[in-house]
Amino acid sequence: MTDQDRSGPISPEAARDSRGRPPLNERLYRTEAIVLARLNLGEADRILTLFTPHYGKLRVIAKGARKSRSKLGPHLEIFTRCQLNLSRGRDLDVVTSAETVDAYPPLRDDLDVLGHASHLVELVARLTEDRQEQERVYDLLRGSLRLLADGVEPFAVTRHFEFTLLVALGYRPELYRCLECGEPLEATTNVFSANRGGMLDMGCRSADPRAVPVTINTQKYLRELDRNGLGNIVRLRVPDDAQRELESLLGGYLRHLTERELNSLDVWHQIQRNLARHPASDEPVPHR
Ligand SMILES: [Zn+2]
Repeated sequence: MTDQDRSGPISPEAARDSRGRPPLNERLYRTEAIVLARLNLGEADRILTLFTPHYGKLRVIAKGARKSRSKLGPHLEIFTRCQLNLSRGRDLDVVTSAETVDAYPPLRDDLDVLGHASHLVELVARLTEDRQEQERVYDLLRGSLRLLADGVEPFAVTRHFEFTLLVALGYRPELYRCLECGEPLEATTNVFSANRGGMLDMGCRSADPRAVPVTINTQKYLRELDRNGLGNIVRLRVPDDAQRELESLLGGYLRHLTERELNSLDVWHQIQRNLARHPASDEPVPHR
């Protein structure tokens, strides 16, 4: 990996914390980021949702980014991996400079690849929390976008991404034993319970009425992902119906978790609103 320049503060060395990050109360900081989403603001500004190695998901503002002569705009397209300098703001931090590290240009040349890449950034935007370090997820996203740009089979890259994202976020699905009785699963159709986070055997199926049947080949594919990552599955020819089954199983599990996440986010926003009524008095940076 050539990531020596991935992130580093422009503040003095002494200001770094034990992991080499500048503390978040520094006024200026520098980080690598991948652009997950953009929203127009006012006449010429943009709000960006970024994903970073050490600060996790960040929402920031890029002033004037939509002006044709903007120096920021060209570096802040969706999927672009960039190196940014940011200035702390009271609500949103402000991008002060940006350079492209990797624009992944081939992602935009092929609609199928573009669709898969969009799915990856959307999952990261939905399933991660603001300002929570997720370095493994960052590396996964960066690597997967690179593989898509290099023309590696999008189906395999995307299923590998989904599975590894689940593992990184602490939701590794149980694939070897029945979650109800604990017996090893037999080589036959079993059922997957999104609610329980893994497989049940047919005898225990009633433990979750919403569990869905999973064919033996799909179970084998998932175990292969679990044991060897992308290594072997990238060479597998997966028939259309098996592709649909894998897509709906992993997609259904991710949707289930997103809904749970959204519920917990409601609670989070409520806490934030309460905090906003009693702001800390030592806010270091005046708003703009
Ligand atoms: Zn069982």
